[in-house]
Amino acid sequence: MTGSTPAPFTADDYRARMERAARSAAEAGLAGLLVAPGPDLVWLTGYAPTAITERLTLLVLAPGRAPVLVVPTLEAPDAAKAAGAPALNLRDWTDGKDPYAATAALLDSTGRFGVSDNAWAMHLLGLQRTLPGTTYAALTEALPMLRAVKDAAELELMAAAGAAADATFEEIRKVPFGGRKESEVGADLAGLLRRFGHSQVDFTIVASGPNGADPHHEVGERVIEQGDMVVLDFGGLKDGYGSDTSRTVHVGEPTDEERRVHDLVRAAQEAGFRAVRPGVACQEVDRAARAVIVDAGYGEYFIHRTGHGIGVTTHEPPYMIEGEQQSLVPGMCFSVEPGVYLPGRFGVRIEDIVTVTEDGGRRLNNTDRELVVVD
Ligand code: ZN
Ligand code: ZN
Ligand code: ZN
Repeated sequence: MTGSTPAPFTADDYRARMERAARSAAEAGLAGLLVAPGPDLVWLTGYAPTAITERLTLLVLAPGRAPVLVVPTLEAPDAAKAAGAPALNLRDWTDGKDPYAATAALLDSTGRFGVSDNAWAMHLLGLQRTLPGTTYAALTEALPMLRAVKDAAELELMAAAGAAADATFEEIRKVPFGGRKESEVGADLAGLLRRFGHSQVDFTIVASGPNGADPHHEVGERVIEQGDMVVLDFGGLKDGYGSDTSRTVHVGEPTDEERRVHDLVRAAQEAGFRAVRPGVACQEVDRAARAVIVDAGYGEYFIHRTGHGIGVTTHEPPYMIEGEQQSLVPGMCFSVEPGVYLPGRFGVRIEDIVTVTEDGGRRLNNTDRELVVVD
C-alpha cells in the first residue's frame, strides 16, 4: 500500500466510515477494531505511512469512544497530515517505551477484537501478552462487508479507474507485439496506466504462447512470435481505487481452435456477468461462468476461481468461488474473469470489473471482448 495516493475524501467522510465501522463491530459482538497500516487503515483514515516498519502503528476503534491512532513519535507529524486525522486522536509512543502497554490502556481487558488481516503477528502477540484476557478475530471474517459495498463517490472512482484501464487497452493494441519481448510490452502497459492517471501499477501480465497457460505468469524475456495468443492482465490504483482487466489478443490471424477457445471464454465471461444481481450468492457467479466451460469439455483447464473483490486494493474479498454464500449487494465491485489454460500451448482470459446495481451487473470495463488481432 505504501506509495499509493489516498482517495480525495474529507475528514467528515473518514469520520463517518470510522463511526460505521465501530457500530458494525458492536453489532458483531466485538469490543473494538484494531487496524494496522494497509488497505483498511487507508479506507478508514486516509493514512498510508510512507514506509511500513516494525514500529507499532494501530488505529483503535471502540464503540462509543473517539478513534485513537497509536503511532510512533517520529511518524506522528506525518500521520497528523492524513485527511482523516481531524477525525481521530493521535497517541504517540517513543522508542524505548512499550507500545503494547500504551495500546492496552485503550482496550477493554477481556474483549474480543477484530484485527485487520495484515497486522503483523509480532504486534498481535505483543498485545495478547499484555492483555491475556483478550481474544481476536480476522477483520474480513468478522466484518466482511466493511469495505466491500462502495458508496456513490467510491463507485465514481472505481469507474474512472476502469476507464483508465480501458484507455490503456485501446493504446496497447496498437503497439507492435511480434518480435518484442513480453517485458517490453509490459513496460508499455505500465507507462500507459500511469499516463491515464494511475499512481500505482500492481501488475502487467503479458503471457505469450505457452506462457499464457500459467495464469500468474507476469512478464519474461520470451520474444513474442507471429501466431501467439497473448494474455494481457493489468491494473493498479488511480486516485486510491483499483483497476484490473484482462484481454487476450492474437499476433496475426488465429487458428479455428484459438478462435473457438476464445469464443468459449467470452461466452463464460458473459454468463458470469449475467448472473450478477442483488441477493445472488457469490458462488452463483462462479457456477454460471464455469458451467459454460465445463459443458464445452474444457472444465479441467479452468484452474482458478471466477473473480475477486476490488476497491482500495486490487485483490480482496468477496471471492466469486464455489462455497462462498455471501449474497451480492448493490455497490459491491469484483472481477468476472474466467479462463482456459492449455498446458504447453496457450491460455485465454477475459476479465471485467463488475459492480452490482439494483437491476443486475454493470461493467466498469467496456473494451472489445472479441478476439483482437495485433501486429
Ligand atoms: Zn496462434
Ligand atoms: Zn486481472
Ligand atoms: Zn483480477
